Amino acid sequence: MSELDRAREIERHVREILRLLGEDPDREGLVETPRRVAQALLELTKSLRTEPPDVKFFTVPKDSSRNLVVIRNIEFLSLCEHHLLPIVGYVSVVYRPRENKVPGLSKVIRLVQWYALRPILQERFTQELANFLCDKICAKFVYCRIAALHMCVFLRGVKSRSSILVTEAVSGEPDEDITSLRRLARCKYPRI
Ligand SMILES: [Zn+2]
Repeated sequence: MSELDRAREIERHVREILRLLGEDPDREGLVETPRRVAQALLELTKSLRTEPPDVKFFTVPKDSSRNLVVIRNIEFLSLCEHHLLPIVGYVSVVYRPRENKVPGLSKVIRLVQWYALRPILQERFTQELANFLCDKICAKFVYCRIAALHMCVFLRGVKSRSSILVTEAVSGEPDEDITSLRRLARCKYPRI
């Protein structure tokens, strides 16, 4: 299916949802809404239909492959798989390069942001992200820590405005204890 056909099909369904909600999809303010909603949904689920960004590696002196690399507070956006409502938060990544090659910093950020663009369950996604990064950046191990706000908790049900979900996972062969990884990967807490 072409992206255009896919967008049109989603638009058609959004129009129907508006009607079922009791709205008039033909009223002036809503005429463009199905198209915008379709674009937003396609953007927030982009990783389901595209290839991950390419990773460029840089050579570093042999000794530095023993050093840990820490990237804190990568902003990401996603959708919760239970309500399709947004999740906003930060991912911190700690990894040890396998050899004397390290990926560019911006590539790690792009990989995280790309991979998050799909419906997720954060508790499972954290492990999947650690596995995905470990493979893509050829690391000895990757530790990920995520702190995120879930709009489904923020807006509906218990309506908690301050609950943050914090999850962690490790992939590969970690040679650091979990307490020091946690300390290195502390995340900012997302606020709205
Ligand atoms: Zn949810």
